[in-house]
Amino acid sequence: MPHLEDKVALITGAASGIGRESALLFAAEGAKVACVDLTEEANVATAAAIEAAGGEAVAITADVSQPANVAEMVEATVSRFGALHVAFNNAGIMHSEDSDAVATDENIWDLTMNINAKGVFLGCKHQIPAIRESGGGSIINTASFVAIMGAATPQIAYTASKGAVLALTRELAIVHARENIRVNALCPGPLRTELLMSFLDTDEKKQRRLVHVPMGRFGEAAEMAKAALFLASDESSYVTGTDFLVDGGLAAAYVTPE
Ligand code: NAD
Repeated sequence: MPHLEDKVALITGAASGIGRESALLFAAEGAKVACVDLTEEANVATAAAIEAAGGEAVAITADVSQPANVAEMVEATVSRFGALHVAFNNAGIMHSEDSDAVATDENIWDLTMNINAKGVFLGCKHQIPAIRESGGGSIINTASFVAIMGAATPQIAYTASKGAVLALTRELAIVHARENIRVNALCPGPLRTELLMSFLDTDEKKQRRLVHVPMGRFGEAAEMAKAALFLASDESSYVTGTDFLVDGGLAAAYVTPE
């Protein structure tokens, strides 16, 4: 039986990377999917790919840092599909000018926090009442391994934003545990997606990062989608408040294999 049969899922960042792969996988597993992204054309393409494969999807253009947009994306999902069971707050940025505390401009800090942290808060704010009305469900917030480990590659705003996502996820999990709403953080390791590959824009930078990954390779967006599917589905019915690391062993390593 498909793992998300009769479920309605909302996924942010669905135009690319983890969000796109998750939208396709959740739909293949029976969910009706609201694909949300700021980038309209590619997001519409994700929804179209789902429909072409026989699934049900709607494309919603929204900026997750804008309160009115976030309220509207949840309303549009419920009005189209009649419920909300799964919310995957996954949209995020990693700014090329994000560096150490001395060098990073305040505007980069604000932009990053607004999308990566406030965007998740706003999502949860509007999704929780809708999930409650639907009888319960699962929220997944994309944090990162940098919420757990420090790195010498500075990206202070990004790191702080992901720490915020992890902390708010834990608190929400506890507050809503008895309402049949589970809230978990997905903590990916370094992935071969547009977001990281454009940040690590030389082979040298890519190799420098891979030194720390025991598996010796970047993760794939599709591998994150499978982890998100587990957290979204009833297979993870006793899992809440967790920092679900999917990182090729990175966070477990002290020394990696040659
Ligand atoms: P990606 O760049 O491929 O996809 C991110 C998507 O988010 C894009 O489609 C983009 O348009 C969308 N987006 C950005 N700002 C938005 C906004 N304000 N409103 C709505 N949509 C917006 O990146 P990805 O690698 O798939 O990243 C997805 C999530 O995973 C992010 O939160 C990222 O921080 C996190 N993550 C990524 C890595 C990695 O190595 N790629 C590692 C850990 C965590």
